[in-house]
Amino acid sequence: MTFKKLAEYFQKLEATPSRNSMVEILSRLFQEADKNEIDKVVYLTQGRVAPLYEPVEFQMAEKMVIRAMALAFEKPVEKITELYKKSGDLGVTAEHLADSGRGQNDVKTVFEKLKKITEINGGGSVEKKVYLLSEILKDCDPVSARIIARIPIDKLRLGFSDMTILEALSWMICGTKKLKDEFETAYNCRPDLGFIAKAVKQNNLKVEPAVGTPILGMRAERLTSPAEIIEKMGGKCAVEPKLDGLRTQLHFSRGTPAKAGVPLIKLYSRGLENVTHMYPDLVEAAKEEINCDEVILDGEAIGFDPKTNKYLPFQETVQRKRKHEIGLFAENVPLKLIVFDVLFYNGKNMINETYETRRKYLEACIKGKTIVLADMRIINKSKDLNDYFEECVRSGLEGIMAKKLDGVYQAGARGFNWIKYKKSYSASLADTVDAVVMGIDFGQGKRNKFGVGAFLIGIFDPKTQTYKTVSKVGTGLTDVEWRALKVRSSEFGVRSKPNEYDVNKLNNCDVWMSPKLVGEFKADELTKSPMHTAGYALRFPRLVRWREKKPEDTTTLQEIAKLANLKT
Ligand code: ATP
Repeated sequence: MTFKKLAEYFQKLEATPSRNSMVEILSRLFQEADKNEIDKVVYLTQGRVAPLYEPVEFQMAEKMVIRAMALAFEKPVEKITELYKKSGDLGVTAEHLADSGRGQNDVKTVFEKLKKITEINGGGSVEKKVYLLSEILKDCDPVSARIIARIPIDKLRLGFSDMTILEALSWMICGTKKLKDEFETAYNCRPDLGFIAKAVKQNNLKVEPAVGTPILGMRAERLTSPAEIIEKMGGKCAVEPKLDGLRTQLHFSRGTPAKAGVPLIKLYSRGLENVTHMYPDLVEAAKEEINCDEVILDGEAIGFDPKTNKYLPFQETVQRKRKHEIGLFAENVPLKLIVFDVLFYNGKNMINETYETRRKYLEACIKGKTIVLADMRIINKSKDLNDYFEECVRSGLEGIMAKKLDGVYQAGARGFNWIKYKKSYSASLADTVDAVVMGIDFGQGKRNKFGVGAFLIGIFDPKTQTYKTVSKVGTGLTDVEWRALKVRSSEFGVRSKPNEYDVNKLNNCDVWMSPKLVGEFKADELTKSPMHTAGYALRFPRLVRWREKKPEDTTTLQEIAKLANLKT
């Protein structure tokens, strides 16, 4: 497939607001791609040259792209800058300048060249990246140039989620969305859309966990009384403390014989970000404290005070998620990884095994001081569950996590195999709500100085794959947080309301943002509301903290409805 053809598909996708037609257009694109290029086509739909969880970045600023355009189109940098100021979009600027006689390169060649740009680092890398990008642009017809100029600065926003891609793959195979659930199960275990697309195209979708590829973490349902939990669990369950740290998946392989002695160790956050470099202490501990050859562990990394051995509050642990001064903070805020699950063990897929079996394997493979097995007890009386809950809360923890003894690990899903019970359930709103920032309004009065006066938040509706609003937040942030939000709004700002936003006209924003920034909000109440497209509104919402979550993992529409009905 030529890159020009791909760019024309992207142009059609950009122009359609309807999700159903997006699915159809994508399915035609996937149909047309052959089995050796479909993975690349899929990565490119996301403006990437690798799966989202791989830390592969272009590291190019707008100025570098302008210089590449100057080289490719033989125009002075000032001229390009002037045109860019007029259009406000580097893609549109490149489109005006490119030569319509070009565009014969195939997708694979362009993909490889783009990938090369991401691999350049060290001395002279700015010049090399600019040159390589100019080489790609030189060969582009106008529509391709529009796409290429946007990719390195992360501005290719076609407005659909990973789920839309899975639906399109189903549509490609059978002309309906009926295979999407099957594909989603595979994706949850191996969230690499290129890999899944290729396997579907080759009619060979057998997905198992793999060391080095993160798995989407299982999530918990919530209930508000110990009695309900015991009943839902069928009279008996395992109960673990609920720790308020950073969800972390540890991938470990002792190494193939050829590379014996050099173990592969990777750590992933809940948002599938590769965070290995942030936790050198956990990497060192993994070398010593894991008692098997290959394993994928699920757990919570949490800071502790070495003098008292007590766990630290989230605000202190989260300081370890940083790009700079990693060593200093590793010393000041030492971590433990409290592991509560095993998803892969010496070549064996564990996710379809019961909790009881997984726990036995887990107990056998951990022997650590830093990588520690989560406390667990089997409970069959609501009084005992309540006593354990209170004991956990007294020792400063968030609450407890009840787990069904014969329950499997439902990657990426929220189910009643895990039920959380937290101390915040006694507050006015039974739980906090995770919502995505959809846009901002400029400030008036006192907050004028921050450049943001209020922001619109919404939650994700997996059924329609849209974001629906729940509140405009105008209070509850510190001065520092308002300023930080202004910075984020320029980073994620987009020209027009994203297609996947369902917003009542009365809630229009001065600046729309692509769905990237997720916050946890506490409110006094959830009330029914015709103003907000979720049908509910948060009353007096305030930000608890920004969250490391994917926007599609915000509280869902279905959960909001449930929360609104919970007795407090
Ligand atoms: P919350 O805000 O309550 O953490 P959430 O929506 O962010 O809810 P859930 O999907 O409910 O997260 O999953 C529970 C989270 O609790 C996990 O992501 C994990 O980080 C954390 N956790 C702490 N202790 C445990 C435990 N023992 N077992 C499983 N998860 C645990």
